[in-house]
Amino acid sequence: MPQPFNQFSQFIDAVQATINEHQDEVTELDRAIGDGDHVINLQRGLDALNAITDELDTLAWPEALMKIGMTLMSTMGGASGSLFGTLFISMAKIAKGKELNSLNLADAFSHGVESVKLRGKADLGEKTMLDTLIPVANSFSTDIDNKVEFELLLENITQAAIEGMQSTKELMATKGRASFLGERSIGHIDAGARTSQLMICAIVDVLNQ
Ligand code: ADP
Ligand code: MG
Repeated sequence: MPQPFNQFSQFIDAVQATINEHQDEVTELDRAIGDGDHVINLQRGLDALNAITDELDTLAWPEALMKIGMTLMSTMGGASGSLFGTLFISMAKIAKGKELNSLNLADAFSHGVESVKLRGKADLGEKTMLDTLIPVANSFSTDIDNKVEFELLLENITQAAIEGMQSTKELMATKGRASFLGERSIGHIDAGARTSQLMICAIVDVLNQ
């Protein structure tokens, strides 16, 4: 049986810190091509997670992921709430009964990202959070398959997240609110791609410590 995994509180602290630090920037990004509420939606979800970190740290990783997904789903608003919720709930389902190791985590993350694609009917290149999440999932899985050492694997994840986030600047949005702007969405980084990258980089930083 999977053992309790007491690092969720550390991840949540680190994620909250980076999102709070970048809140004005993210608001500007969502204001430019959306409605400006993305960071508030996310902060509401993270506050709700912060309130249950003690409980999360007593759970095995699949149960903790499920709790995180359900909490985000029920507390966050916006398109991003159901999508981030879906990511974690889908990860939880595939992780169930498995031990926590890099292989199972990479597998769970890939499944989670696939579920986000289905839920949002979106794919790479549509100027969404998926432009960060998909390259990260691919990098993670490829490095696991190639038995790349953990430190380099984390470096590659960081790079994939940053490049994916930056790629959204020149893309035209074809999904979500930003798609209403058509070609006028070009020239701005997508808010969800940016917050996904910030959160992934914060988790990598914790793992590097
Ligand atoms: P809303 O767009 O409802 O105001 P948020 O502002 O919280 O919700 O989230 C917007 C972010 O959600 C976008 O920046 C984008 O990354 C992501 N997003 C929107 N629609 C989709 C979709 N169909 N698939 C994947 N991501 C999406
Ligand atoms: Mg919004």
